[in-house]
Amino acid sequence: MITTTNPATGETIAEYETLDKAAIDRKLARAHDSYRDWRTSELSRRTDVLSKMGDLYESRKDELARLAVTEMGKPISQAIGEVEKCAALLHHFAKAGPDMLKPETWHLSDGGRAEGRWLPQGPVLAVMPWNFPYWQVVRFLAPTILAGNVGLLKHASIVQGVAAKMEELALEAGAPEGVFQNLCIGSDPIADIIADDRVIAATLTGSEGAGSAVAEQAGKNLKKVVLELGGSDPFIVMPSADIDQAVKDAVQARIQNNGQSCICGKRTIVHADIYDDFADRFIAALKDIEPGDPMDEDTELGPLSSESQRDTVLDQVSKAKEEGATLLFGGENIDRPGAWMTAGLLTDVEVGSETGTDEIFGPVGQLYRAADIDEAIRIANAIPYGLGSAAWTHDDSERERFANEIEAGMTTFNAVNGSKIEAPFGGIKRSGHGRELSRFGLHEFMNLKTVVYP
Ligand code: NAP
Repeated sequence: MITTTNPATGETIAEYETLDKAAIDRKLARAHDSYRDWRTSELSRRTDVLSKMGDLYESRKDELARLAVTEMGKPISQAIGEVEKCAALLHHFAKAGPDMLKPETWHLSDGGRAEGRWLPQGPVLAVMPWNFPYWQVVRFLAPTILAGNVGLLKHASIVQGVAAKMEELALEAGAPEGVFQNLCIGSDPIADIIADDRVIAATLTGSEGAGSAVAEQAGKNLKKVVLELGGSDPFIVMPSADIDQAVKDAVQARIQNNGQSCICGKRTIVHADIYDDFADRFIAALKDIEPGDPMDEDTELGPLSSESQRDTVLDQVSKAKEEGATLLFGGENIDRPGAWMTAGLLTDVEVGSETGTDEIFGPVGQLYRAADIDEAIRIANAIPYGLGSAAWTHDDSERERFANEIEAGMTTFNAVNGSKIEAPFGGIKRSGHGRELSRFGLHEFMNLKTVVYP
Protein backbone atom coordinates (compact mmCIF):
# COMPACT_ATOMS: atom_id res chain seq x y z
CA MET A 1 0.00 0.00 0.00
CA ILE A 2 1.30 3.48 -0.87
CA THR A 3 -0.16 6.46 0.97
CA THR A 4 0.16 9.95 -0.51
CA THR A 5 0.23 13.04 1.72
CA ASN A 6 -0.32 16.73 1.02
CA PRO A 7 2.95 18.34 2.18
CA ALA A 8 1.21 21.70 2.69
CA THR A 9 -1.17 20.27 5.31
CA GLY A 10 0.19 16.89 6.38
CA GLU A 11 -3.17 15.34 5.44
CA THR A 12 -3.51 12.00 3.70
CA ILE A 13 -4.65 12.35 0.08
CA ALA A 14 -5.11 8.74 -1.04
CA GLU A 15 -4.05 5.15 -0.61
CA TYR A 16 -2.92 3.01 -3.52
CA GLU A 17 -2.81 -0.77 -3.61
CA THR A 18 0.60 -1.81 -4.96
CA LEU A 19 0.91 -4.44 -7.69
CA ASP A 20 1.82 -7.96 -6.60
CA LYS A 21 4.18 -10.23 -8.54
CA ALA A 22 1.42 -11.67 -10.73
CA ALA A 23 0.04 -8.22 -11.59
CA ILE A 24 3.52 -6.96 -12.51
CA ASP A 25 3.96 -10.01 -14.71
CA ARG A 26 0.70 -9.23 -16.52
CA LYS A 27 1.87 -5.66 -17.16
CA LEU A 28 5.17 -6.89 -18.57
CA ALA A 29 3.36 -9.38 -20.81
CA ARG A 30 1.12 -6.59 -22.07
CA ALA A 31 4.13 -4.35 -22.74
CA HIS A 32 5.81 -7.16 -24.66
CA ASP A 33 2.66 -7.87 -26.72
CA SER A 34 1.88 -4.27 -27.51
CA TYR A 35 5.48 -3.67 -28.61
CA ARG A 36 5.05 -6.29 -31.36
CA ASP A 37 2.50 -4.05 -33.11
CA TRP A 38 3.78 -0.65 -32.01
CA ARG A 39 7.29 -1.23 -33.37
CA THR A 40 5.96 -1.40 -36.93
CA SER A 41 3.24 1.24 -36.54
CA GLU A 42 3.23 4.12 -39.03
CA LEU A 43 5.27 7.08 -37.89
CA SER A 44 2.23 9.30 -38.51
CA ARG A 45 0.26 7.22 -35.98
CA ARG A 46 2.93 7.83 -33.34
CA THR A 47 3.17 11.55 -34.02
CA ASP A 48 -0.63 11.74 -33.91
CA VAL A 49 -0.60 10.28 -30.38
CA LEU A 50 2.09 12.77 -29.36
CA SER A 51 0.14 15.74 -30.76
CA LYS A 52 -3.05 14.64 -29.05
CA MET A 53 -1.19 14.17 -25.78
CA GLY A 54 0.27 17.66 -26.18
CA ASP A 55 -3.24 19.05 -26.74
CA LEU A 56 -4.55 17.27 -23.64
CA TYR A 57 -1.73 18.55 -21.43
CA GLU A 58 -2.36 22.06 -22.71
CA SER A 59 -6.14 22.00 -22.32
CA ARG A 60 -6.07 20.35 -18.88
CA LYS A 61 -3.09 22.16 -17.45
CA ASP A 62 -4.94 23.67 -14.50
CA GLU A 63 -6.32 20.35 -13.31
CA LEU A 64 -2.97 18.59 -13.83
CA ALA A 65 -1.04 21.34 -12.09
CA ARG A 66 -3.33 21.26 -9.06
CA LEU A 67 -2.85 17.52 -8.72
CA ALA A 68 0.95 17.93 -8.67
CA VAL A 69 0.76 20.77 -6.15
CA THR A 70 -1.41 18.66 -3.85
CA GLU A 71 1.01 15.74 -3.98
CA MET A 72 4.41 17.46 -3.87
CA GLY A 73 3.83 21.11 -2.94
CA LYS A 74 5.41 23.15 -5.74
CA PRO A 75 3.91 26.61 -6.30
CA ILE A 76 0.94 26.44 -8.67
CA SER A 77 2.37 28.95 -11.18
CA GLN A 78 5.43 26.71 -11.55
CA ALA A 79 3.28 23.57 -11.83
CA ILE A 80 1.33 25.17 -14.69
CA GLY A 81 4.64 26.11 -16.34
CA GLU A 82 5.78 22.50 -16.02
CA VAL A 83 2.64 21.13 -17.70
CA GLU A 84 2.93 23.72 -20.49
CA LYS A 85 6.53 22.65 -21.06
CA CYS A 86 5.35 19.03 -21.36
CA ALA A 87 2.80 20.07 -23.99
CA ALA A 88 5.50 21.96 -25.89
CA LEU A 89 7.84 18.93 -25.82
CA LEU A 90 5.13 16.55 -27.04
CA HIS A 91 4.33 18.90 -29.93
CA HIS A 92 8.02 19.36 -30.65
CA PHE A 93 8.67 15.62 -30.99
CA ALA A 94 5.49 15.21 -33.04
CA LYS A 95 6.77 17.81 -35.50
CA ALA A 96 10.55 17.56 -35.47
CA GLY A 97 10.88 13.89 -34.44
CA PRO A 98 10.40 12.12 -37.79
CA ASP A 99 13.45 13.88 -39.27
CA MET A 100 15.53 12.64 -36.35
CA LEU A 101 14.72 9.06 -37.42
CA LYS A 102 15.87 9.45 -41.02
CA PRO A 103 18.53 6.93 -42.01
CA GLU A 104 22.08 8.05 -42.69
CA THR A 105 24.08 6.75 -45.68
CA TRP A 106 27.82 6.06 -46.00
CA HIS A 107 29.55 5.38 -49.32
CA LEU A 108 31.97 2.52 -48.86
CA SER A 109 35.49 2.28 -50.28
CA ASP A 110 34.59 -1.09 -51.87
CA GLY A 111 31.95 0.61 -53.97
CA GLY A 112 29.02 -0.42 -51.79
CA ARG A 113 26.79 1.60 -49.52
CA ALA A 114 25.87 1.29 -45.84
CA GLU A 115 22.77 2.71 -44.28
CA GLY A 116 22.21 3.41 -40.57
CA ARG A 117 18.58 2.83 -39.58
CA TRP A 118 17.09 3.75 -36.26
CA LEU A 119 14.96 0.83 -35.07
CA PRO A 120 13.04 0.34 -31.81
CA GLN A 121 14.10 -2.30 -29.33
CA GLY A 122 11.27 -2.99 -26.87
CA PRO A 123 9.90 -2.08 -23.44
CA VAL A 124 11.96 0.42 -21.39
CA LEU A 125 11.56 0.87 -17.63
CA ALA A 126 11.56 4.47 -16.36
CA VAL A 127 12.18 5.08 -12.64
CA MET A 128 11.22 8.68 -11.98
CA PRO A 129 11.33 11.29 -9.20
CA TRP A 130 8.62 13.53 -7.78
CA ASN A 131 10.20 16.95 -8.24
CA PHE A 132 8.99 17.61 -11.81
CA PRO A 133 6.44 14.80 -11.76
CA TYR A 134 5.10 15.38 -15.30
CA TRP A 135 8.17 16.76 -17.02
CA GLN A 136 10.60 14.00 -16.03
CA VAL A 137 8.19 11.37 -17.34
CA VAL A 138 7.25 13.18 -20.56
CA ARG A 139 10.95 13.72 -21.26
CA PHE A 140 11.21 9.92 -21.37
CA LEU A 141 7.80 9.12 -22.82
CA ALA A 142 7.68 11.38 -25.89
CA PRO A 143 10.81 9.87 -27.48
CA THR A 144 9.76 6.37 -26.38
CA ILE A 145 6.46 6.64 -28.26
CA LEU A 146 8.12 8.20 -31.30
CA ALA A 147 10.83 5.51 -31.39
CA GLY A 148 8.27 2.68 -31.46
CA ASN A 149 9.43 1.45 -28.07
CA VAL A 150 6.98 1.07 -25.18
CA GLY A 151 7.26 2.51 -21.68
CA LEU A 152 6.82 1.19 -18.15
CA LEU A 153 6.75 3.81 -15.40
CA LYS A 154 7.77 3.33 -11.79
CA HIS A 155 7.04 6.79 -10.46
CA ALA A 156 8.06 8.16 -7.07
CA SER A 157 5.75 6.87 -4.35
CA ILE A 158 4.57 10.32 -3.32
CA VAL A 159 3.12 11.22 -6.75
CA GLN A 160 0.98 8.18 -7.52
CA GLY A 161 -1.98 10.36 -8.49
CA VAL A 162 0.11 12.05 -11.18
CA ALA A 163 1.42 8.67 -12.34
CA ALA A 164 -2.06 7.22 -12.79
CA LYS A 165 -3.25 10.39 -14.55
CA MET A 166 -0.39 10.22 -17.04
CA GLU A 167 -1.34 6.70 -18.09
CA GLU A 168 -4.93 7.83 -18.49
CA LEU A 169 -3.89 10.75 -20.73
CA ALA A 170 -1.77 8.54 -22.99
CA LEU A 171 -4.74 6.19 -23.51
CA GLU A 172 -7.08 9.12 -24.11
CA ALA A 173 -4.68 10.43 -26.76
CA GLY A 174 -4.95 7.12 -28.61
CA ALA A 175 -1.88 5.22 -27.42
CA PRO A 176 -2.79 1.52 -27.65
CA GLU A 177 -3.10 -0.36 -24.34
CA GLY A 178 0.34 -1.39 -23.16
CA VAL A 179 2.32 1.32 -24.96
CA PHE A 180 2.61 3.24 -21.70
CA GLN A 181 1.78 1.59 -18.37
CA ASN A 182 2.08 2.88 -14.85
CA LEU A 183 3.34 0.35 -12.32
CA CYS A 184 2.13 1.24 -8.86
CA ILE A 185 5.03 -0.25 -6.89
CA GLY A 186 7.70 0.68 -4.36
CA SER A 187 11.31 0.19 -5.27
CA ASP A 188 11.66 -3.46 -4.13
CA PRO A 189 10.38 -5.11 -7.34
CA ILE A 190 12.59 -2.95 -9.61
CA ALA A 191 15.53 -5.35 -9.64
CA ASP A 192 13.36 -8.22 -10.91
CA ILE A 193 11.75 -6.02 -13.56
CA ILE A 194 15.16 -4.96 -14.87
CA ALA A 195 16.27 -8.60 -14.93
CA ASP A 196 13.16 -9.67 -16.87
CA ASP A 197 13.95 -10.61 -20.48
CA ARG A 198 11.00 -8.61 -21.74
CA VAL A 199 12.55 -5.33 -20.55
CA ILE A 200 15.39 -4.08 -22.73
CA ALA A 201 16.74 -1.09 -20.79
CA ALA A 202 16.18 1.27 -17.87
CA THR A 203 16.34 5.00 -17.33
CA LEU A 204 16.38 6.61 -13.91
CA THR A 205 16.07 10.20 -12.80
CA GLY A 206 16.75 10.57 -9.09
CA SER A 207 19.39 10.30 -6.42
CA GLU A 208 22.83 8.75 -6.63
CA GLY A 209 21.79 5.83 -4.40
CA ALA A 210 18.83 4.87 -6.56
CA GLY A 211 20.88 5.43 -9.72
CA SER A 212 23.62 3.16 -8.55
CA ALA A 213 21.14 0.39 -7.54
CA VAL A 214 19.45 0.51 -10.95
CA ALA A 215 22.76 0.72 -12.84
CA GLU A 216 24.16 -2.24 -10.91
CA GLN A 217 21.18 -4.40 -11.79
CA ALA A 218 21.19 -3.24 -15.41
CA GLY A 219 24.92 -3.96 -15.65
CA LYS A 220 24.46 -7.43 -14.19
CA ASN A 221 21.86 -8.12 -16.85
CA LEU A 222 23.83 -6.42 -19.65
CA LYS A 223 21.16 -3.79 -20.26
CA LYS A 224 21.66 -0.20 -21.17
CA VAL A 225 20.88 2.47 -18.60
CA VAL A 226 20.52 6.26 -18.74
CA LEU A 227 21.00 8.08 -15.43
CA GLU A 228 19.92 11.66 -14.64
CA LEU A 229 21.10 12.17 -11.08
CA GLY A 230 21.67 14.99 -8.62
CA GLY A 231 23.80 18.09 -8.82
CA SER A 232 25.04 21.12 -6.93
CA ASP A 233 25.25 23.61 -9.76
CA PRO A 234 27.46 26.69 -9.63
CA PHE A 235 25.93 30.09 -10.38
CA ILE A 236 28.91 32.35 -11.12
CA VAL A 237 28.68 36.14 -11.19
CA MET A 238 31.49 38.15 -12.77
CA PRO A 239 32.03 41.95 -12.70
CA SER A 240 30.53 42.59 -16.17
CA ALA A 241 27.17 41.07 -15.11
CA ASP A 242 23.91 42.96 -14.83
CA ILE A 243 23.89 42.72 -11.02
CA ASP A 244 20.18 43.50 -10.56
CA GLN A 245 19.14 40.71 -12.89
CA ALA A 246 21.78 38.33 -11.53
CA VAL A 247 20.52 38.84 -7.96
CA LYS A 248 16.92 38.21 -9.01
CA ASP A 249 17.85 35.09 -10.94
CA ALA A 250 20.17 33.78 -8.21
CA VAL A 251 17.23 33.85 -5.79
CA GLN A 252 14.91 32.23 -8.30
CA ALA A 253 17.53 29.59 -9.13
CA ARG A 254 17.86 28.64 -5.48
CA ILE A 255 14.20 28.61 -4.47
CA GLN A 256 12.44 27.45 -7.62
CA ASN A 257 10.52 24.24 -7.11
CA ASN A 258 10.90 24.96 -3.37
CA GLY A 259 14.65 24.48 -3.73
CA GLN A 260 14.21 20.97 -5.13
CA SER A 261 15.47 21.27 -8.67
CA CYS A 262 18.27 19.02 -9.88
CA ILE A 263 19.76 21.79 -11.96
CA CYS A 264 20.00 25.40 -10.83
CA GLY A 265 22.29 27.54 -8.78
CA LYS A 266 22.77 25.82 -5.46
CA ARG A 267 26.21 27.44 -4.97
CA THR A 268 26.43 31.14 -5.80
CA ILE A 269 30.05 32.08 -6.60
CA VAL A 270 30.78 35.80 -6.88
CA HIS A 271 33.88 37.64 -8.10
CA ALA A 272 35.59 39.56 -5.27
CA ASP A 273 35.26 42.94 -7.06
CA ILE A 274 31.45 42.84 -6.83
CA TYR A 275 31.04 40.43 -3.93
CA ASP A 276 29.99 42.93 -1.22
CA ASP A 277 27.46 44.69 -3.42
CA PHE A 278 26.03 41.43 -4.75
CA ALA A 279 25.97 39.78 -1.31
CA ASP A 280 24.05 42.66 0.30
CA ARG A 281 21.36 42.53 -2.35
CA PHE A 282 21.21 38.73 -2.58
CA ILE A 283 20.89 38.34 1.19
CA ALA A 284 18.12 40.95 1.34
CA ALA A 285 16.19 39.39 -1.55
CA LEU A 286 16.44 35.81 -0.27
CA LYS A 287 15.54 36.85 3.27
CA ASP A 288 12.42 38.47 1.86
CA ILE A 289 11.03 35.19 0.54
CA GLU A 290 8.06 34.12 2.65
CA PRO A 291 6.81 30.55 2.42
CA GLY A 292 3.14 30.50 1.46
CA ASP A 293 0.20 28.40 0.25
CA PRO A 294 1.41 26.61 -2.91
CA MET A 295 -2.07 26.96 -4.44
CA ASP A 296 -1.76 30.75 -4.31
CA GLU A 297 -0.56 32.16 -7.65
CA ASP A 298 1.72 34.69 -5.92
CA THR A 299 3.57 32.12 -3.81
CA GLU A 300 7.24 31.74 -4.64
CA LEU A 301 8.14 29.17 -1.97
CA GLY A 302 5.87 26.38 -0.74
CA PRO A 303 6.53 23.42 1.56
CA LEU A 304 9.11 20.77 0.77
CA SER A 305 7.79 17.64 -0.89
CA SER A 306 7.59 15.64 2.33
CA GLU A 307 8.45 15.91 5.99
CA SER A 308 11.34 13.50 5.54
CA GLN A 309 12.76 15.64 2.72
CA ARG A 310 12.46 18.72 4.97
CA ASP A 311 14.21 16.86 7.82
CA THR A 312 17.05 15.85 5.50
CA VAL A 313 17.64 19.50 4.62
CA LEU A 314 17.49 20.58 8.28
CA ASP A 315 20.08 17.88 9.09
CA GLN A 316 22.31 19.22 6.31
CA VAL A 317 22.06 22.73 7.79
CA SER A 318 23.09 21.39 11.22
CA LYS A 319 25.98 19.52 9.64
CA ALA A 320 27.07 22.70 7.84
CA LYS A 321 27.22 24.56 11.17
CA GLU A 322 29.22 21.72 12.73
CA GLU A 323 31.66 22.01 9.84
CA GLY A 324 32.18 25.71 10.57
CA ALA A 325 29.89 27.29 7.97
CA THR A 326 27.92 30.39 8.94
CA LEU A 327 24.14 30.26 8.64
CA LEU A 328 23.34 33.90 7.87
CA PHE A 329 19.60 33.48 8.31
CA GLY A 330 16.72 31.02 7.87
CA GLY A 331 17.07 27.33 7.10
CA GLU A 332 14.71 26.60 9.99
CA ASN A 333 11.74 24.38 10.63
CA ILE A 334 8.34 26.11 10.63
CA ASP A 335 6.21 24.60 13.32
CA ARG A 336 2.95 23.82 11.55
CA PRO A 337 1.48 20.67 9.98
CA GLY A 338 3.20 19.75 6.72
CA ALA A 339 6.77 19.97 5.46
CA TRP A 340 7.57 23.65 5.99
CA MET A 341 10.87 25.45 6.43
CA THR A 342 12.29 28.90 5.73
CA ALA A 343 14.75 29.78 2.98
CA GLY A 344 18.30 30.20 4.28
CA LEU A 345 21.84 31.05 3.27
CA LEU A 346 25.22 29.61 4.23
CA THR A 347 28.59 31.33 3.90
CA ASP A 348 32.12 30.30 4.92
CA VAL A 349 31.51 26.84 3.49
CA GLU A 350 34.83 25.13 3.05
CA VAL A 351 35.42 24.01 -0.54
CA GLY A 352 35.64 20.22 -0.53
CA SER A 353 33.81 19.82 2.82
CA GLU A 354 30.73 17.60 3.08
CA THR A 355 28.48 20.67 2.90
CA GLY A 356 30.44 22.05 -0.03
CA THR A 357 30.14 18.84 -2.03
CA ASP A 358 26.67 17.54 -1.06
CA GLU A 359 23.49 18.40 -2.91
CA ILE A 360 21.15 20.41 -0.66
CA PHE A 361 17.69 19.60 -2.06
CA GLY A 362 15.82 22.46 -0.39
CA PRO A 363 15.80 26.27 -0.23
CA VAL A 364 19.18 26.80 1.44
CA GLY A 365 21.85 28.51 -0.64
CA GLN A 366 25.63 28.73 -0.34
CA LEU A 367 27.56 31.92 -1.13
CA TYR A 368 31.26 31.87 -2.11
CA ARG A 369 33.77 34.64 -2.88
CA ALA A 370 36.21 34.02 -5.76
CA ALA A 371 39.35 36.15 -6.22
CA ASP A 372 39.33 35.71 -10.01
CA ILE A 373 37.99 33.54 -12.82
CA ASP A 374 40.47 30.77 -12.03
CA GLU A 375 39.20 30.49 -8.50
CA ALA A 376 35.56 30.69 -9.66
CA ILE A 377 36.14 27.74 -12.00
CA ARG A 378 38.05 25.85 -9.31
CA ILE A 379 35.17 26.22 -6.82
CA ALA A 380 32.61 25.39 -9.51
CA ASN A 381 34.39 22.12 -10.28
CA ALA A 382 35.18 21.11 -6.69
CA ILE A 383 32.18 18.79 -6.41
CA PRO A 384 31.55 15.20 -7.45
CA TYR A 385 28.63 16.30 -9.67
CA GLY A 386 28.49 17.79 -13.15
CA LEU A 387 24.91 18.56 -14.11
CA GLY A 388 24.23 22.20 -14.98
CA SER A 389 25.88 25.59 -14.43
CA ALA A 390 25.21 29.26 -15.04
CA ALA A 391 27.68 32.11 -15.50
CA TRP A 392 26.96 35.82 -15.55
CA THR A 393 29.36 37.72 -17.75
CA HIS A 394 29.39 39.84 -20.88
CA ASP A 395 33.06 39.19 -21.52
CA ASP A 396 33.60 36.87 -24.51
CA SER A 397 36.89 35.43 -23.32
CA GLU A 398 35.37 34.60 -19.93
CA ARG A 399 32.44 32.92 -21.68
CA GLU A 400 34.83 30.76 -23.68
CA ARG A 401 36.59 29.67 -20.51
CA PHE A 402 33.35 28.87 -18.66
CA ALA A 403 31.92 27.00 -21.66
CA ASN A 404 35.05 24.88 -21.99
CA GLU A 405 36.22 24.50 -18.40
CA ILE A 406 33.19 24.08 -16.15
CA GLU A 407 32.72 20.35 -15.67
CA ALA A 408 28.99 20.01 -16.37
CA GLY A 409 26.53 18.81 -19.00
CA MET A 410 25.25 22.35 -19.53
CA THR A 411 26.30 25.99 -19.10
CA THR A 412 23.84 28.86 -19.48
CA PHE A 413 24.94 32.50 -19.71
CA ASN A 414 23.11 35.38 -18.03
CA ALA A 415 19.94 33.43 -17.22
CA VAL A 416 18.64 30.76 -14.85
CA ASN A 417 19.87 27.43 -16.16
CA GLY A 418 17.13 25.09 -17.32
CA SER A 419 16.57 22.31 -19.85
CA LYS A 420 15.45 23.38 -23.33
CA ILE A 421 12.97 21.25 -25.22
CA GLU A 422 15.06 21.24 -28.41
CA ALA A 423 18.53 20.69 -26.90
CA PRO A 424 20.22 17.68 -25.28
CA PHE A 425 20.18 17.41 -21.51
CA GLY A 426 22.23 15.31 -19.11
CA GLY A 427 25.15 15.25 -16.73
CA ILE A 428 28.70 14.05 -16.26
CA LYS A 429 30.66 12.83 -13.19
CA ARG A 430 28.27 11.61 -10.47
CA SER A 431 25.34 13.39 -12.10
CA GLY A 432 24.93 10.42 -14.41
CA HIS A 433 25.41 9.50 -18.02
CA GLY A 434 23.49 9.45 -21.27
CA ARG A 435 21.33 12.23 -22.65
CA GLU A 436 17.66 13.05 -22.82
CA LEU A 437 15.85 15.36 -25.26
CA SER A 438 16.81 16.07 -28.91
CA ARG A 439 17.90 13.30 -31.26
CA PHE A 440 20.51 12.21 -28.74
CA GLY A 441 17.81 11.40 -26.19
CA LEU A 442 15.57 9.81 -28.83
CA HIS A 443 18.36 7.49 -29.97
CA GLU A 444 19.47 6.28 -26.51
CA PHE A 445 17.24 3.20 -26.54
CA MET A 446 17.15 2.57 -30.28
CA ASN A 447 19.10 0.12 -32.38
CA LEU A 448 21.32 1.89 -34.90
CA LYS A 449 21.30 -0.93 -37.39
CA THR A 450 23.92 -0.89 -40.12
CA VAL A 451 22.47 -2.24 -43.36
CA VAL A 452 25.05 -2.93 -46.07
CA TYR A 453 24.29 -2.92 -49.79
CA PRO A 454 27.33 -4.18 -51.72
P1 NAP B 1 15.10 9.10 -5.27
O1 NAP B 1 14.83 8.86 -3.86
O2 NAP B 1 16.31 8.55 -5.88
O3 NAP B 1 13.81 8.57 -6.06
C1 NAP B 1 13.76 8.56 -7.47
C2 NAP B 1 13.05 7.30 -7.90
O4 NAP B 1 13.87 6.18 -7.58
C3 NAP B 1 11.73 7.09 -7.19
O5 NAP B 1 10.82 6.50 -8.09
C4 NAP B 1 12.10 6.12 -6.08
O6 NAP B 1 11.02 5.36 -5.61
C5 NAP B 1 13.13 5.26 -6.76
N1 NAP B 1 14.08 4.62 -5.86
C6 NAP B 1 14.48 5.03 -4.63
N2 NAP B 1 15.40 4.18 -4.14
C7 NAP B 1 15.58 3.21 -5.06
C8 NAP B 1 16.40 2.06 -5.14
N3 NAP B 1 17.23 1.70 -4.16
N4 NAP B 1 16.32 1.30 -6.25
C9 NAP B 1 15.51 1.64 -7.26
N5 NAP B 1 14.71 2.72 -7.25
C10 NAP B 1 14.75 3.50 -6.17
O7 NAP B 1 15.14 10.63 -5.62
P2 NAP B 1 14.09 11.74 -5.25
O8 NAP B 1 14.28 12.09 -3.83
O9 NAP B 1 12.74 11.34 -5.72
O10 NAP B 1 14.59 12.91 -6.22
C11 NAP B 1 15.59 13.76 -5.86
C12 NAP B 1 16.88 13.47 -6.58
O11 NAP B 1 16.68 13.37 -7.99
C13 NAP B 1 17.84 14.61 -6.40
O12 NAP B 1 19.14 14.11 -6.18
C14 NAP B 1 17.76 15.35 -7.72
O13 NAP B 1 18.87 16.13 -8.02
C15 NAP B 1 17.60 14.22 -8.68
N6 NAP B 1 17.03 14.68 -9.94
C16 NAP B 1 17.80 14.67 -11.07
C17 NAP B 1 17.29 15.16 -12.25
C18 NAP B 1 18.10 15.17 -13.53
O14 NAP B 1 17.54 15.41 -14.57
N7 NAP B 1 19.39 14.92 -13.49
C19 NAP B 1 15.99 15.64 -12.31
C20 NAP B 1 15.24 15.63 -11.14
C21 NAP B 1 15.76 15.14 -9.96
P3 NAP B 1 10.27 5.72 -4.25
O15 NAP B 1 9.68 7.06 -4.40
O16 NAP B 1 9.25 4.65 -4.13
O17 NAP B 1 11.31 5.67 -3.17
